[in-house]
Amino acid sequence: MRDFTQDHRWLSINTATVRQQRGQDWPLDQILDACAARGIRAVSPWRDQVAALGLDKTARQIKALGLELSGYCRGGMFTAASAEAFQAALADNRRAVDEACALGAPCLVLVVGGLPGALAGSLQSRDLVQARQQITDGIAATLDYARSVRMPLAIEPLHPMYAADRAAINTLEQALDVCDVLDPTRTGALGVAVDLYHVWWDPKLYSQIERAGRWRLLAYHVCDWLVPTRDLLTDRGMMGDGVIELRRIRAAVEAQGFAGYSEVEIFSATNWWQRDGAEVLDTCIERHRTVV
Ligand code: ZN
Repeated sequence: MRDFTQDHRWLSINTATVRQQRGQDWPLDQILDACAARGIRAVSPWRDQVAALGLDKTARQIKALGLELSGYCRGGMFTAASAEAFQAALADNRRAVDEACALGAPCLVLVVGGLPGALAGSLQSRDLVQARQQITDGIAATLDYARSVRMPLAIEPLHPMYAADRAAINTLEQALDVCDVLDPTRTGALGVAVDLYHVWWDPKLYSQIERAGRWRLLAYHVCDWLVPTRDLLTDRGMMGDGVIELRRIRAAVEAQGFAGYSEVEIFSATNWWQRDGAEVLDTCIERHRTVV
């Protein structure tokens, strides 16, 4: 297991962690500068932040600052109530793949979608079985394209509380089942993003990390699970403030050969998004060294 206590060489910041500070958007160009100024070597930006700054401009700044990406957030949202809407989702995923390529990302993270219309507040179907089939079909189609441009896809299983509205792939086991169907020979083109917020509770966590192995472990996202958790989406904890056995899980992932970045991804409307971005980044560095 790598020693993180001496430096933060393997720290990455998911830019949603500092996307708004005290109610104001923190622009991506400023986030990138602030990360680079602290010796943070990697980030994982979101598509809307990249769109706001401009894709070319973002790519140039990342290169100029010597930053790497640990992932690109995000593709997915495949479920749709009509064939037209499904095709539109596939087209949008191809654009996300292209953006990931332009930014030099190691993978495109997929949040696969829940029941059609649920996230928008206009549920169009309760057929979860069909939604999951559509997800597999959507990943298959996107994988065909992603392979052609050599961009790996990382399926991110989300906690089951999001099955209706954000992702009907809810465990590592389920994500790996899809990987085995679509990429049976483990080419590295398809794998998983292990986000501890979503998978820490799973009794099969360690066995599925082992099953994933090096070629399926494409991204590793850390935060903490607070007790109590007051909001399902925007009350993630800073590493060390909750109940997740961070070092034990990282040891398991690294035992499989994962040697990538530990990406901090914290959505925190009432705590960390209310502080100065500089303080949040400094705290991420400190916790990365002391508890991750
Ligand atoms: Zn994540």
